[in-house]
Amino acid sequence: MMKYIGAHVSASGGVENAPVNAHGIGATAFALFTKNQRQWKSAPLTKESISAFKKNCELYNYSPAQILPHDSYLINLGHPEKDALEKSREAFLDEMQRCEQLGLDRLNFHPGSSLGKISDDECLKLIAESINIVLSKTKGVIAVIENTSGQGSNLGYTFEQLRQIIDNVEDKLRVGVCLDTCHTFTAGYDIKTEKGFTETFIKFDNTIGFSYLKGMHINDSKKELASRVDRHDSIGKGFLGLDIFRMIMKDKRFDGIPLILETPDDLIWAEEIKLLKSFV
Ligand SMILES: [Zn+2]
Ligand SMILES: [Zn+2]
Repeated sequence: MMKYIGAHVSASGGVENAPVNAHGIGATAFALFTKNQRQWKSAPLTKESISAFKKNCELYNYSPAQILPHDSYLINLGHPEKDALEKSREAFLDEMQRCEQLGLDRLNFHPGSSLGKISDDECLKLIAESINIVLSKTKGVIAVIENTSGQGSNLGYTFEQLRQIIDNVEDKLRVGVCLDTCHTFTAGYDIKTEKGFTETFIKFDNTIGFSYLKGMHINDSKKELASRVDRHDSIGKGFLGLDIFRMIMKDKRFDGIPLILETPDDLIWAEEIKLLKSFV
């Protein structure tokens, strides 16, 4: 297997532009929003857009294992209020259906937030329940939970919390995890050093298991270890430095999944991808 390396590219003008943009920066993977990420409702994908997306993916050699769509930031699958939870579940179902239509096999999302109104346990249960509901109404798309920095009342910042969600998901084959390097670090896992990196991923394997790893977000961090703040930086420019990215690129456990830059300067994505490829 290979390393698939890319970035979260623009889909402006239509989802079919995302693979073109990814190809333009030398990416072998990409992430995209299949709708406007800051709005609750978007027009359905047109037949033309869907077929152009599939055609462009084929043209530039992107298979579903190289593509990691990201859901809207508005969605909170652990929302403590009934109506708002319902709204989030509907929006998430729509996101999953868009992935189905595009022939994609995974959707990356942030687990959710208790807003300080319910306990962490209750919130994690609601998130799992949301996943179960949406999985029962869709086919073939894996719900990929992203670990967070634990900023505010966001959950999913420890491997144990992610495990707790997975434990309550009925179809284990359709739930996965995406680890964001910036979030992992600011949540308190010292992946910066070789020793910390080794120990963290042993812990990840024991608590969750590498079979659940369906993607990675490759970001440096503007904030320090355990700061619980989510601020991405360009590769090698932040508190993580370059060694960790070298370790990831040399490690076979990260083969065959999309490795996605969400770094702030899109003008240097092509360079960052080149640098990461040079570490493989
Ligand atoms: Zn991320
Ligand atoms: Zn982030």
